[in-house]
Amino acid sequence: MRTAIVIGSGAGGCMAARELALHGYEVTVLEAGRDFRPLGLDLQRLEFARKAGLFLDERMIELLFPAMRIQKGQVGLVHVTGQAVGGTTTLATGNALRYDRHLAELGIDLDEEFAELEREVPQTTEHRANWSALTERLFATFEQLGLEPQVTPKFMEDPERCVTCGKCALGCRHGAKWTCDRLLDDLSNVTIEQGSKVERVTIENGVATGAVIRRGPLRETRSADLVILAAGGLGTPVVLEASGIPTSPTLFVDPVLCIACRWEGAHLDTQLPMPFVSEQPDYILSPYFDWLSFYFNKQWRMPSSDIMSIMIKMADTSAGSFDGRRLTKPLADKDWEVLAGAVDKVYEVFETLGVSRDRTFYGTLNAGHPGGCLPLTTAEARTLHHATLPANLYVADATLFPRSLGNPPILTIMALAKKVARTAMDS
Ligand SMILES: Cc1cc2nc3c(=O)[nH]c(=O)nc-3n(C[C@H](O)[C@H](O)[C@H](O)COP(=O)(O)OP(=O)(O)OC[C@H]3O[C@@H](n4cnc5c(N)ncnc54)[C@H](O)[C@@H]3O)c2cc1C
Repeated sequence: MRTAIVIGSGAGGCMAARELALHGYEVTVLEAGRDFRPLGLDLQRLEFARKAGLFLDERMIELLFPAMRIQKGQVGLVHVTGQAVGGTTTLATGNALRYDRHLAELGIDLDEEFAELEREVPQTTEHRANWSALTERLFATFEQLGLEPQVTPKFMEDPERCVTCGKCALGCRHGAKWTCDRLLDDLSNVTIEQGSKVERVTIENGVATGAVIRRGPLRETRSADLVILAAGGLGTPVVLEASGIPTSPTLFVDPVLCIACRWEGAHLDTQLPMPFVSEQPDYILSPYFDWLSFYFNKQWRMPSSDIMSIMIKMADTSAGSFDGRRLTKPLADKDWEVLAGAVDKVYEVFETLGVSRDRTFYGTLNAGHPGGCLPLTTAEARTLHHATLPANLYVADATLFPRSLGNPPILTIMALAKKVARTAMDS
């Protein structure tokens, strides 16, 4: 039987592993994290610690919530990723949107893969009945301002189990949200090795032979006929570089900034996050209660139920890198210009709702959609494989994206990973 190693169990890794397993491969998924557990501490105790000002630095969240990893970069940007079986999809708010325009421009056709995903992965827009009066009012305000809001399709395992607790990004406790590890549930020829951090891919005479992993203090090797690297936009470049394969300093991250105000009884903290989205050139706007800012940003020290907040998520310039220790992610002048324009648009929403600018405050600038460090070009449109990689080593995550989407990438990463796995099997 042919064997494959897939590095990382996020959106790209699980999708690639599934595809290989369905075609008869014996697949080993090497995952640095462990089984996902939602943020388990009593939220009232967390609230006490927050009010007492004990949460000094966002990186402290890892002590309470090991699946959430934080890196800090320039300009105060806080980078959030998931380290668990299911990758960052465990922290996702479940938005299921297709954004493959830049890939299509290179000549990569993912229509078939998206059509299959529609059948394989539960997605729904049937959540509007759960919206609060304020969410409906926000939707109407967006419409009034010509922002063309669209109800967001959500990855939902079972919409009936959603109690709109508002804590999707802290892990779903109710079994409502779909996460990508579910793709591997029914497959007996896939083994997930948790707590196995890949240091590098082993390459002999130009052929990938497997991977060196760290399990606690131990260093071990695994071998396979085919290696698929899907450790995420920040994890994959580190493994590539450690394996002697150069990456490109073209990291994008999709910066996020929430603008908030005090609004008594808003209860946005117990609403489905991002229930609708307004898509603008270079950014999107959506109602979002930002738990990171709530716990770590001094300006957010008020009851969670009394904060109303709108998220800006923008496409940033491809510039930056991560070597496993130092994350370099500068924002270009153009990025600041886009952000300033988006902030003005959010002020328009607030003003229409009767909230003046001086009553608003910012959240913490953060980001959670990294990618772009081995971008595809037209030269790789057919093979989905860079010439710098051994013939049997493929990448299957957002590292391949030619530029930032400025939009939720899970669905597009899965479609691309599906195609990468198929191409790898055919080659
Ligand atoms: C708070 C938050 C909310 C989000 N909400 C949405 C949303 O609603 N919709 C959407 O489309 N996107 C969302 N995203 C983004 C989305 O979750 C990620 O872009 C997506 O999961 C990336 O998929 P991936 O497979 O590339 O990497 P990941 O899902 O990050 O998975 C990579 C995996 O590789 C593992 N890994 C890393 N390095 C190694 C190594 N050396 N060895 C072994 N394993 C390793 C990691 O532990 C991780 O499990 C959100 C992100 C955040 C932070």
